[in-house]
Amino acid sequence: MKVNMLVIGQGICGTFLSHYLEKAGLSFLVIDDARPQSASRTAAGVINPVTGRRLVKTWMIEELMDFARKAYEEIGIKLGIQCLTETSIVDFFPTPRMRLTFLERQKEESTFLAMPVDEKDHLQNFHYEFGYGLIKPALLIDLSSLLNAFRKKLSAAGQLMESIFEINALKLSENGIKYQDIDAEWIIFCDGTTSFTNPEFRNLPFAPNKGEVLIIETEGIPMTKTIYKKGISLVPLENNLFWVGSSYDWEFKNEAPDRIFRERTELLLLDWLKRPFTILDHRAAVRPATLERRPFVGFHPLYEHVGILNGMGTKGCSLAPYFSNQLVENIVTQKPVLPEADIRRFSKILSRP
Ligand SMILES: Cc1cc2nc3c(=O)[nH]c(=O)nc-3n(C[C@H](O)[C@H](O)[C@H](O)COP(=O)(O)OP(=O)(O)OC[C@H]3O[C@@H](n4cnc5c(N)ncnc54)[C@H](O)[C@@H]3O)c2cc1C
Repeated sequence: MKVNMLVIGQGICGTFLSHYLEKAGLSFLVIDDARPQSASRTAAGVINPVTGRRLVKTWMIEELMDFARKAYEEIGIKLGIQCLTETSIVDFFPTPRMRLTFLERQKEESTFLAMPVDEKDHLQNFHYEFGYGLIKPALLIDLSSLLNAFRKKLSAAGQLMESIFEINALKLSENGIKYQDIDAEWIIFCDGTTSFTNPEFRNLPFAPNKGEVLIIETEGIPMTKTIYKKGISLVPLENNLFWVGSSYDWEFKNEAPDRIFRERTELLLLDWLKRPFTILDHRAAVRPATLERRPFVGFHPLYEHVGILNGMGTKGCSLAPYFSNQLVENIVTQKPVLPEADIRRFSKILSRP
């Protein structure tokens, strides 16, 4: 089989890379092992424009958000699904100090921060003492529908090989790559945490970060797609189900769900929600994060047919569409990838044996 591109992984990166390859008229095959605990299948799908206790705007957010809006609408139309909702985040202030910080920041940052008309209007469902602010607009992506629908499309078109990619079977040549009976001009690794051990890319400064979440069922909280936040986030799914999370662990012993997270989060929920709830599931995944919190995009300095699209960290939903498009533009028109994301900034360490 001959294709322009072999794509490894069908998380949010592999999905958007395939989408833009198709738009550019390039042929491709995706190999994905369908592991249920990938980051993309565990994520909430929130694009939150501000971050941290100081509520600073996230890197390039205006540009990324505009791009994401168009990208998710476009891919949704292609798949016949709606996977993007414009929403707001109800940010309950955990302390009077956080309330002050919000009010101060709102004076400087009126694009994404606002005060509601009536701060008491969520008292029916939540315990909160210090009011709340609104972060808006935020975007909510239905990752499950998107990944499933795209996978179905790939499968129907014969563009998906559901198996584990074995790096030892990859052969590099001057004109491209060979893997089993597949000849391709390029291979791009969109395999999330597996890249941490890839011989060509393991020298990149990855910083694995474990996140855990609960799935709960509760009645009474409106399923209006509003996201609620008080230390942890409560994100509506469907049929009275909510995603609750998450943790950010830089040091962890294993990738499995941990009893301590479940117990701690259950206590937080008992303290916060006025409605009874049932925990239905507990999941964990490792985020492919990076030390300097910027993605890894582009081709290896020594192997020009081998590339990577990874390192999306906590922001895969906003970064993956934008940088997938940049990578395909780079292939088709040689337009450079943004220097802060281009892996050529690590040429020296990638050239080490
Ligand atoms: C708890 C949690 C919450 C999160 N919430 C958000 C959020 O709300 N918003 C946001 O923007 N980001 C969020 N993230 C981060 C986001 O999930 C990641 O940035 C993003 O999913 C990374 O996507 P990816 O495609 O690079 O990797 P992955 O999602 O890990 O995809 C990699 C794919 O490659 C496949 N694969 C791996 N190795 C092989 C192999 N050897 N052979 C074949 N296939 C292979 C896997 O099966 C998988 O399908 C969250 C992450 C976690 C863990």
